Amino acid sequence: MPAVTAPDILVLPRVPEPDAATAAERPVMSVTTAPSGFEGEGFPVRRAFAGVDLQQLDPFIHMDQMGEVEYAPGEPKGTPWHPHRGFETVTYIIDGVFRHQDSNGGGGLITNGDTQWMTAGGGILHIEEPPEELVMSGGLFHGFQLWVNLPRRLKMTAPRYQDIRAQQVSLLSSPDGGALIRVIAGDLAGHPGPGVTHTPISLLHVTLQPGARLHLPWRSDFNALVYVLGGSGTVGPDHRPLRTGQLAVFGAGDALTVDAARTQEGPGRELDILVLGGQPIREPVAAYGPFVMNTRDELVQAFEDFQAGRLGSIPAQHDEVPAEPHPGHDVL
Ligand code: MN
Repeated sequence: MPAVTAPDILVLPRVPEPDAATAAERPVMSVTTAPSGFEGEGFPVRRAFAGVDLQQLDPFIHMDQMGEVEYAPGEPKGTPWHPHRGFETVTYIIDGVFRHQDSNGGGGLITNGDTQWMTAGGGILHIEEPPEELVMSGGLFHGFQLWVNLPRRLKMTAPRYQDIRAQQVSLLSSPDGGALIRVIAGDLAGHPGPGVTHTPISLLHVTLQPGARLHLPWRSDFNALVYVLGGSGTVGPDHRPLRTGQLAVFGAGDALTVDAARTQEGPGRELDILVLGGQPIREPVAAYGPFVMNTRDELVQAFEDFQAGRLGSIPAQHDEVPAEPHPGHDVL
Protein backbone atom coordinates (compact mmCIF):
# COMPACT_ATOMS: atom_id res chain seq x y z
CA MET A 1 0.00 0.00 0.00
CA PRO A 2 1.47 3.36 -0.93
CA ALA A 3 1.72 5.20 2.39
CA VAL A 4 -1.33 7.29 3.20
CA THR A 5 -4.49 6.62 1.23
CA ALA A 6 -7.90 8.29 1.29
CA PRO A 7 -11.06 6.18 1.64
CA ASP A 8 -12.99 8.75 -0.42
CA ILE A 9 -10.82 10.95 -2.59
CA LEU A 10 -13.83 13.02 -3.71
CA VAL A 11 -14.27 14.68 -0.32
CA LEU A 12 -10.72 16.08 -0.37
CA PRO A 13 -9.91 19.70 -1.30
CA ARG A 14 -9.18 19.97 -5.01
CA VAL A 15 -6.17 21.62 -6.52
CA PRO A 16 -7.36 24.07 -9.18
CA GLU A 17 -6.24 23.61 -12.79
CA PRO A 18 -3.62 26.18 -13.81
CA ASP A 19 -5.20 29.04 -15.76
CA ALA A 20 -5.05 27.89 -19.39
CA ALA A 21 -4.88 31.48 -20.67
CA THR A 22 -1.97 32.68 -18.54
CA ALA A 23 -0.06 29.67 -17.18
CA ALA A 24 3.10 28.73 -19.09
CA GLU A 25 3.48 24.95 -19.34
CA ARG A 26 6.93 23.78 -18.26
CA PRO A 27 8.80 21.83 -20.96
CA VAL A 28 10.78 18.68 -20.07
CA MET A 29 14.53 19.36 -20.27
CA SER A 30 15.82 15.86 -19.54
CA VAL A 31 14.80 12.33 -18.58
CA THR A 32 17.40 10.20 -16.76
CA THR A 33 17.34 6.66 -15.39
CA ALA A 34 18.50 6.09 -11.82
CA PRO A 35 21.27 3.50 -11.50
CA SER A 36 20.85 0.90 -8.76
CA GLY A 37 23.30 0.59 -5.89
CA PHE A 38 23.56 -0.20 -2.21
CA GLU A 39 23.59 2.13 0.80
CA GLY A 40 24.78 1.70 4.36
CA GLU A 41 25.16 -1.93 5.36
CA GLY A 42 23.72 -3.01 2.04
CA PHE A 43 20.14 -1.94 1.42
CA PRO A 44 19.22 -1.56 -2.23
CA VAL A 45 18.71 1.98 -3.56
CA ARG A 46 18.13 3.81 -6.82
CA ARG A 47 20.24 7.00 -7.14
CA ALA A 48 17.46 9.24 -8.44
CA PHE A 49 19.59 12.27 -9.35
CA ALA A 50 22.60 10.50 -10.89
CA GLY A 51 23.79 12.15 -14.10
CA VAL A 52 21.88 15.41 -13.54
CA ASP A 53 23.76 18.72 -13.20
CA LEU A 54 23.64 20.11 -9.64
CA GLN A 55 22.53 23.50 -11.01
CA GLN A 56 19.33 21.90 -12.29
CA LEU A 57 18.73 20.11 -8.98
CA ASP A 58 19.45 23.17 -6.79
CA PRO A 59 18.38 23.35 -3.90
CA PHE A 60 18.40 19.53 -3.88
CA ILE A 61 21.63 17.55 -3.75
CA HIS A 62 20.85 13.86 -3.72
CA MET A 63 17.94 11.44 -3.57
CA ASP A 64 17.80 7.68 -3.01
CA GLN A 65 14.73 5.57 -3.59
CA MET A 66 15.15 2.87 -0.93
CA GLY A 67 13.74 -0.42 -2.21
CA GLU A 68 11.15 -1.34 -3.10
CA VAL A 69 12.41 -4.62 -1.69
CA GLU A 70 10.83 -7.70 -0.09
CA TYR A 71 13.28 -8.76 2.61
CA ALA A 72 13.66 -12.35 3.79
CA PRO A 73 13.83 -12.85 7.58
CA GLY A 74 17.22 -11.66 8.91
CA GLU A 75 17.91 -9.64 5.77
CA PRO A 76 16.77 -6.02 6.46
CA LYS A 77 19.69 -3.59 6.67
CA GLY A 78 20.39 0.00 7.69
CA THR A 79 23.38 2.28 8.10
CA PRO A 80 26.03 2.40 10.84
CA TRP A 81 26.48 5.65 12.86
CA HIS A 82 27.70 8.37 10.50
CA PRO A 83 28.04 12.19 10.46
CA HIS A 84 26.44 14.95 8.38
CA ARG A 85 27.02 18.68 8.02
CA GLY A 86 25.66 21.46 5.85
CA PHE A 87 22.24 20.24 4.69
CA GLU A 88 18.93 18.57 5.65
CA THR A 89 17.81 14.98 5.11
CA VAL A 90 14.18 14.06 4.51
CA THR A 91 13.32 10.39 4.94
CA TYR A 92 9.84 9.17 3.94
CA ILE A 93 8.71 5.60 4.45
CA ILE A 94 6.03 4.19 2.16
CA ASP A 95 6.18 0.57 3.33
CA GLY A 96 8.02 -0.90 6.29
CA VAL A 97 9.67 0.61 9.35
CA PHE A 98 12.90 2.56 9.84
CA ARG A 99 14.41 3.63 13.14
CA HIS A 100 16.36 6.84 13.41
CA GLN A 101 18.52 8.04 16.27
CA ASP A 102 20.85 11.03 16.39
CA SER A 103 23.47 12.64 18.62
CA ASN A 104 21.17 15.62 19.15
CA GLY A 105 18.56 13.54 20.97
CA GLY A 106 16.25 13.20 17.96
CA GLY A 107 14.89 9.83 17.04
CA GLY A 108 11.98 7.53 16.60
CA LEU A 109 10.35 4.93 14.43
CA ILE A 110 8.89 5.97 11.12
CA THR A 111 6.50 3.76 9.22
CA ASN A 112 3.93 3.85 6.42
CA GLY A 113 3.59 7.49 5.31
CA ASP A 114 5.72 9.00 8.10
CA THR A 115 8.55 11.43 7.43
CA GLN A 116 11.58 12.32 9.48
CA TRP A 117 13.18 15.62 8.71
CA MET A 118 16.67 16.11 10.06
CA THR A 119 18.58 19.36 9.80
CA ALA A 120 22.22 18.38 10.17
CA GLY A 121 23.31 22.03 10.18
CA GLY A 122 26.72 22.43 11.82
CA GLY A 123 26.98 18.76 12.64
CA ILE A 124 25.19 15.63 13.74
CA LEU A 125 25.78 11.90 14.00
CA HIS A 126 22.94 9.54 13.24
CA ILE A 127 21.98 5.96 12.54
CA GLU A 128 19.17 4.70 10.31
CA GLU A 129 18.20 1.08 10.63
CA PRO A 130 15.30 -1.36 10.62
CA PRO A 131 14.09 -2.21 14.13
CA GLU A 132 14.91 -5.64 15.55
CA GLU A 133 11.38 -7.00 14.91
CA LEU A 134 11.63 -6.17 11.21
CA VAL A 135 15.07 -7.75 10.96
CA MET A 136 13.59 -10.93 12.44
CA SER A 137 10.45 -10.99 10.33
CA GLY A 138 11.67 -9.50 7.05
CA GLY A 139 9.00 -7.93 4.84
CA LEU A 140 8.36 -5.12 2.42
CA PHE A 141 10.53 -2.00 2.60
CA HIS A 142 10.10 1.08 0.41
CA GLY A 143 10.81 4.78 0.88
CA PHE A 144 13.12 7.57 -0.13
CA GLN A 145 15.69 9.93 1.32
CA LEU A 146 16.16 13.41 -0.09
CA TRP A 147 19.02 15.81 0.69
CA VAL A 148 18.07 19.50 0.73
CA ASN A 149 20.94 21.96 0.68
CA LEU A 150 21.40 24.82 3.15
CA PRO A 151 22.66 28.25 2.07
CA ARG A 152 26.04 29.47 3.33
CA ARG A 153 24.46 31.48 6.18
CA LEU A 154 22.72 28.34 7.55
CA LYS A 155 25.40 25.68 6.98
CA MET A 156 26.39 25.78 10.66
CA THR A 157 22.88 26.27 12.08
CA ALA A 158 21.80 24.20 15.09
CA PRO A 159 20.64 20.64 14.31
CA ARG A 160 16.86 20.09 14.31
CA TYR A 161 14.67 17.02 14.11
CA GLN A 162 11.04 16.90 12.97
CA ASP A 163 8.85 13.86 13.23
CA ILE A 164 6.02 14.11 10.74
CA ARG A 165 3.30 11.51 11.12
CA ALA A 166 1.32 10.21 8.17
CA GLN A 167 -1.88 11.77 9.55
CA GLN A 168 -0.32 15.27 9.40
CA VAL A 169 0.32 15.10 5.66
CA SER A 170 -2.16 17.27 3.71
CA LEU A 171 -4.29 15.26 1.29
CA LEU A 172 -5.60 16.89 -1.86
CA SER A 173 -7.23 15.69 -5.06
CA SER A 174 -6.89 16.56 -8.72
CA PRO A 175 -10.09 18.18 -10.10
CA ASP A 176 -11.52 14.86 -11.40
CA GLY A 177 -10.40 12.71 -8.46
CA GLY A 178 -7.92 10.74 -10.58
CA ALA A 179 -4.87 11.72 -8.55
CA LEU A 180 -4.29 11.70 -4.79
CA ILE A 181 -1.80 14.40 -3.77
CA ARG A 182 0.02 14.22 -0.44
CA VAL A 183 1.74 17.48 0.52
CA ILE A 184 4.69 16.50 2.71
CA ALA A 185 6.44 19.86 2.83
CA GLY A 186 5.99 23.38 1.53
CA ASP A 187 2.64 24.11 -0.03
CA LEU A 188 0.64 23.52 -3.16
CA ALA A 189 -1.83 26.15 -4.36
CA GLY A 190 -2.17 27.50 -0.82
CA HIS A 191 -2.48 24.10 0.91
CA PRO A 192 0.46 23.75 3.31
CA GLY A 193 2.15 20.49 4.28
CA PRO A 194 3.67 19.80 7.70
CA GLY A 195 7.42 19.88 6.94
CA VAL A 196 9.23 23.08 7.97
CA THR A 197 12.26 23.78 5.83
CA HIS A 198 15.03 26.35 5.97
CA THR A 199 15.17 26.41 2.18
CA PRO A 200 11.74 26.98 0.57
CA ILE A 201 10.64 23.78 -1.20
CA SER A 202 7.50 21.85 -2.11
CA LEU A 203 7.50 18.07 -1.84
CA LEU A 204 4.53 15.98 -3.00
CA HIS A 205 3.87 12.25 -3.16
CA VAL A 206 1.20 11.71 -5.81
CA THR A 207 -0.66 8.54 -6.85
CA LEU A 208 -2.40 8.65 -10.22
CA GLN A 209 -5.00 6.13 -11.33
CA PRO A 210 -4.41 4.53 -14.77
CA GLY A 211 -5.13 7.14 -17.48
CA ALA A 212 -5.37 10.03 -14.98
CA ARG A 213 -3.84 13.46 -15.59
CA LEU A 214 -2.03 15.65 -13.08
CA HIS A 215 -1.93 19.28 -14.20
CA LEU A 216 -0.45 21.35 -11.38
CA PRO A 217 0.19 25.03 -10.82
CA TRP A 218 3.89 25.27 -9.83
CA ARG A 219 5.70 28.35 -8.52
CA SER A 220 7.79 29.90 -11.28
CA ASP A 221 10.63 30.74 -8.86
CA PHE A 222 10.98 27.00 -7.97
CA ASN A 223 12.65 24.35 -10.08
CA ALA A 224 10.48 21.32 -10.89
CA LEU A 225 11.34 17.60 -10.84
CA VAL A 226 9.20 14.47 -11.19
CA TYR A 227 10.56 11.09 -10.11
CA VAL A 228 8.67 7.82 -10.69
CA LEU A 229 8.57 5.52 -7.66
CA GLY A 230 6.50 2.98 -9.56
CA GLY A 231 4.46 2.76 -12.76
CA SER A 232 4.64 4.52 -16.11
CA GLY A 233 3.27 7.51 -17.98
CA THR A 234 4.35 10.65 -19.80
CA VAL A 235 5.46 14.13 -18.73
CA GLY A 236 5.21 17.60 -20.21
CA PRO A 237 3.45 18.99 -23.26
CA ASP A 238 5.43 16.69 -25.59
CA HIS A 239 4.41 13.55 -23.64
CA ARG A 240 7.92 12.26 -22.91
CA PRO A 241 7.68 8.67 -21.60
CA LEU A 242 8.66 8.19 -17.94
CA ARG A 243 8.70 4.97 -15.91
CA THR A 244 9.85 3.46 -12.60
CA GLY A 245 13.24 4.84 -11.54
CA GLN A 246 13.28 7.75 -14.00
CA LEU A 247 13.57 11.47 -13.27
CA ALA A 248 12.22 14.32 -15.40
CA VAL A 249 13.73 17.79 -15.02
CA PHE A 250 11.35 20.53 -16.12
CA GLY A 251 12.30 23.91 -17.57
CA ALA A 252 10.84 27.33 -16.77
CA GLY A 253 7.12 27.98 -16.48
CA ASP A 254 4.33 27.91 -13.92
CA ALA A 255 2.47 24.66 -14.59
CA LEU A 256 3.46 21.03 -15.09
CA THR A 257 1.72 17.96 -16.46
CA VAL A 258 2.03 14.24 -15.76
CA ASP A 259 -0.18 11.66 -17.51
CA ALA A 260 -0.50 8.11 -16.19
CA ALA A 261 -0.46 5.31 -18.75
CA ARG A 262 -3.80 3.53 -19.18
CA THR A 263 -2.23 0.21 -18.28
CA GLN A 264 -0.07 0.07 -15.18
CA GLU A 265 2.10 -2.87 -14.28
CA GLY A 266 3.49 -3.79 -10.88
CA PRO A 267 1.76 -4.48 -7.59
CA GLY A 268 0.13 -1.04 -7.20
CA ARG A 269 -1.38 -0.82 -10.68
CA GLU A 270 -1.05 2.95 -10.26
CA LEU A 271 1.48 5.61 -11.17
CA ASP A 272 3.28 6.62 -7.99
CA ILE A 273 5.49 9.73 -8.24
CA LEU A 274 7.30 12.41 -6.29
CA VAL A 275 6.90 15.99 -7.46
CA LEU A 276 9.46 18.33 -5.96
CA GLY A 277 10.93 21.75 -6.42
CA GLY A 278 12.48 24.59 -4.47
CA GLN A 279 14.11 27.96 -4.59
CA PRO A 280 17.61 27.58 -6.02
CA ILE A 281 20.34 28.65 -3.57
CA ARG A 282 22.81 29.51 -6.37
CA GLU A 283 25.99 29.12 -4.34
CA PRO A 284 29.04 26.94 -5.07
CA VAL A 285 28.58 23.34 -3.83
CA ALA A 286 31.47 21.29 -2.44
CA ALA A 287 30.00 17.90 -1.57
CA TYR A 288 31.86 14.81 -0.47
CA GLY A 289 30.45 11.78 1.31
CA PRO A 290 28.25 12.92 4.19
CA PHE A 291 29.13 16.65 3.97
CA VAL A 292 27.76 19.38 1.71
CA MET A 293 29.62 22.68 1.99
CA ASN A 294 30.50 25.68 -0.20
CA THR A 295 34.26 25.18 -0.49
CA ARG A 296 36.88 22.43 -0.40
CA ASP A 297 38.46 23.99 2.70
CA GLU A 298 35.14 23.70 4.52
CA LEU A 299 34.98 20.00 3.57
CA VAL A 300 38.46 19.43 5.00
CA GLN A 301 37.35 21.28 8.14
CA ALA A 302 34.24 19.07 8.38
CA PHE A 303 36.37 15.89 8.25
CA GLU A 304 38.74 17.33 10.88
CA ASP A 305 35.84 18.32 13.13
CA PHE A 306 34.29 14.85 12.74
CA GLN A 307 37.58 13.15 13.59
CA ALA A 308 37.98 15.39 16.65
CA GLY A 309 34.47 14.47 17.85
CA ARG A 310 33.06 17.96 17.31
CA LEU A 311 30.07 16.74 15.27
CA GLY A 312 28.58 15.04 18.31
CA SER A 313 28.98 11.73 20.06
CA ILE A 314 27.04 8.51 19.93
CA PRO A 315 24.58 8.40 22.81
CA ALA A 316 24.97 5.63 25.37
CA GLN A 317 22.86 2.56 24.70
CA HIS A 318 21.08 1.00 27.63
CA ASP A 319 18.38 -1.08 26.06
CA GLU A 320 19.76 -3.42 23.45
CA VAL A 321 23.24 -4.46 24.52
CA PRO A 322 23.12 -7.85 26.26
CA ALA A 323 24.96 -7.83 29.59
CA GLU A 324 28.41 -9.40 29.38
CA PRO A 325 29.35 -11.78 32.20
CA HIS A 326 31.39 -9.74 34.66
CA PRO A 327 35.13 -10.47 34.27
CA GLY A 328 36.39 -12.62 37.09
CA HIS A 329 33.02 -14.22 37.81
CA ASP A 330 32.55 -17.87 37.05
CA VAL A 331 29.38 -18.64 35.15
CA LEU A 332 28.07 -21.93 36.47
MN1 MN B 1 22.51 9.73 6.99
